[in-house]
Amino acid sequence: MSAQIEVVVGDITELEVDAIVNAANKQLKGGGGVDGAIHRAAGPGLLEDCRRLNGCETGDVKVTGGHDLPASWVIHAVGPVWGGDKEEKDRLLAACYTTALRKAEGLGCASIAFPAISTGVYGFPGDRAARVAVKALRATLPDCGSIEKVVLCCFSEESATHHRVALEQ
Ligand code: ADP
Repeated sequence: MSAQIEVVVGDITELEVDAIVNAANKQLKGGGGVDGAIHRAAGPGLLEDCRRLNGCETGDVKVTGGHDLPASWVIHAVGPVWGGDKEEKDRLLAACYTTALRKAEGLGCASIAFPAISTGVYGFPGDRAARVAVKALRATLPDCGSIEKVVLCCFSEESATHHRVALEQ
């Protein structure tokens, strides 16, 4: 039995899950949007950890502890900036979900929450990003035996609708 994927509307920093995913930038130096919210809620120790990681490539992830967050781990994923070669951007976005999930499995996590990576400042269309996310998660979950629950943590009803529609397909 594959894990359950659920959609919630809320602030990812408040979720009681083993790992939350951050929509980070390549420098891993914090920023706006969900990245800023995660750094504020985790406290300054998170930035200290991030500084030691030498940045992160687009489509890849790096892991830190959760510091003051309820989550034990933060998996920092760098999503693509929308524009140019759309199929390539889909591939890079899918890689964020796949790699983060595999990393969580490696950490022994039972639960993980994702924000809608790249759909804020990075400009990815919300409906397309949701389809990419759901497809990548469904393809990877069967290999990730420790994962019992995946939360798609949306920050608006519109984003939640995109994810619910993607899950129905
Ligand atoms: P990116 O640069 O990858 O586009 P953003 O942080 O700008 O990252 O946006 C990614 C998504 O995260 C957007 O859908 C945004 O609305 C959402 N978001 C912003 N703050 C939070 C939060 N505290 N919890 C969950 N999602 C959030």
